[in-house]
Amino acid sequence: MRIGFIGIGNMGWPMAGHIRAAGYPLTVYDLDREKCARFAREHNCACAQNLAEIAENEIIITMLPTGQIVRNVLLLDGSGALAAGLKIGTIVVDMSSSEPMGTRELGKVLKSSGVTLLDAPVSGAVPRAKTGTLAIMIGGNDPAAIERVKPVLSAMGKQLFETGPLGTGHAMKALNNYIAAAGYTAVAEALLVGERFGLDPEKMVDILNASTGRNFSTEFMIKEQVLGRKFATGFALGLMAKDVKIAADLGEAVGLDAPVSRLIRDRWAHARDRLGAMRDTSEAILGWKDDLPERT
Ligand code: NAD
Repeated sequence: MRIGFIGIGNMGWPMAGHIRAAGYPLTVYDLDREKCARFAREHNCACAQNLAEIAENEIIITMLPTGQIVRNVLLLDGSGALAAGLKIGTIVVDMSSSEPMGTRELGKVLKSSGVTLLDAPVSGAVPRAKTGTLAIMIGGNDPAAIERVKPVLSAMGKQLFETGPLGTGHAMKALNNYIAAAGYTAVAEALLVGERFGLDPEKMVDILNASTGRNFSTEFMIKEQVLGRKFATGFALGLMAKDVKIAADLGEAVGLDAPVSRLIRDRWAHARDRLGAMRDTSEAILGWKDDLPERT
C-alpha cells in the first residue's frame, strides 16, 4: 500500500515518520518545499512536486491546519486540485482537526468520484505524535475502508477508536479539545485570582494535582510551559481557538444550548486576537491577564 501524506508540520512530521518506519512506501507533500525535501532526505522517501504526484497513492492522509484547507487541497482548482487526479477506490484519511459538517460535505463530493473519505483526528499532541502513541478517533461510512487503513493508523497511534459515521471523529476531537481548553481556562483564571489574593502559583498547582481540581493542564502543562515560561507545546493558539469554535458551532448545529462552549470559544478567540494565532496554546493566559475584572 503506497501512502501519500500532505502536511508535515508539528504533528504530520513525526506521524509520517512512523508510517515510513513501519515500512510503507511514502510520498509526502507540503507547501513548504524545503521542509518536504528535508523530510524526504531524512526518511528515505519521496517528496511530491505537486498534488498530481500525491494522487498516485492508494491511501492519502491529510494533516493540515483546518478543514477548509483540506477541502481546498482536494477540490479547488488553480493549485491543481487533488481530487481531479484520484483513482476510483482511493481512500483519503483526514487526520486534521476539521469541522464535522464540512467533512460530511467533502465526503459526499468525493464519493461521487468513487473516492472514500474517512476522518481520523488525533489527540496526544506533539510528544505522543513523536512516540507513535496518539489516540485516534475514526469516523467513516465504509467499514472495509476503515479496516484497510487501520494498520497504517496503528503505526501512529496506540488507541484506535471507531466513533461512527463520517464526521463523528472530527466531532469527538472538537469536543475533546473544548474540554481541554475549558480546563486550561479555569486553571488560568484560578491562578490569576489566587496570585492576586496572595497564593503562590507553584504551590497552587501542587495542591490542585493532589486535589479534585486536577486536570490535563495542571498535570502536564502549567508548571513547565506557563510558570516555567517555556510556552512551547507545539500546538498553536490559533488552532485551539479553531477547535473550540468547532465545538461551539456543533452545539448550535444540533440545536442544543451549550453556553459554556460559547464562552470558551470567545475567550480563546480573544486570546488569539490579542496575542496572534501563531503563539503557543500555553500562552493563552497572557492574553487574559489584564482582562480579569475586579470583583465588585
Ligand atoms: P502545523 O501548522 O505545524 O502544520 C501544518 C502543515 O501543513 C505545515 O507544514 C504547512 O506548511 C502545511 N500546509 C498548510 N497549508 C498547506 C497546503 N495548502 N498544502 C500543503 N501543505 C500545507 O500544524 P500542526 O500543529 O501539525 O496541526 C495539524 C492539524 O492537527 C491541525 O488541524 C491541528 O488542529 C491538529 N492537531 C494539532 C495538535 C498539536 O499539538 N500541534 C494536536 C492534535 C491535533
